[in-house]
Amino acid sequence: MYQHHWIDQSPVSINGEQLNTGKVVCVGRNYADHIAELNSDTPEQAVLFIKPSTSVCSAVAPIKVSHLAHLGEMHHELEIALLIGDKQRIIGVGLGIDLTLRDIQQQLKSKGLPWERSKSFDGSCAVSPFLRFDASIDLQNIDLQLILNDHIQQSSNSSMMLYPIEILLEDINDVFTLQAGDIVLTGTPAGVGPLQKGDMISASLNQTLLIDNTLIK
Ligand code: ZN
Repeated sequence: MYQHHWIDQSPVSINGEQLNTGKVVCVGRNYADHIAELNSDTPEQAVLFIKPSTSVCSAVAPIKVSHLAHLGEMHHELEIALLIGDKQRIIGVGLGIDLTLRDIQQQLKSKGLPWERSKSFDGSCAVSPFLRFDASIDLQNIDLQLILNDHIQQSSNSSMMLYPIEILLEDINDVFTLQAGDIVLTGTPAGVGPLQKGDMISASLNQTLLIDNTLIK
């Protein structure tokens, strides 16, 4: 079963107690170049949605998608992931892959229906180990990059977000109270695309490789 881990592979705990996995609050349409590639409208406020704790899985173990292949394309969306500790503080920064059944999402969007069937299913949130959040990490200047089968597929920086992280957290807390163990996914830049069985994914945050050749199966 998934547990939050630090980059040194130790489980995340607070006051000696292992941190349980909570909900995932996700932000849609937070990078202008991704809004353009999907022909979406620029939102007047942050687009928020939830993935339940059952959606979270490790991005350093093989990621299973082939059982959903009959539902159409499964896209990767690489996102900066924030791990929330006590008192609604960010304690960790990592990467999440917001796995999205794009064809299903387009069908739901066109009917004005909620997206959960396309984005909140079991295993739809693959999460890297976390770096401890400290002053060395500038939330306004985080590089993120996804490499799919040796090709750079997504590459951006948190400075390109329409809603910066501090503003997002305030907004989110007004709607969905963040609790220890929750994750916030902060939106994806351009370059989303389909995953196939047999693909290999790597991803880095600043200079740190957090996902190293994970197999898609
Ligand atoms: Zn996303």
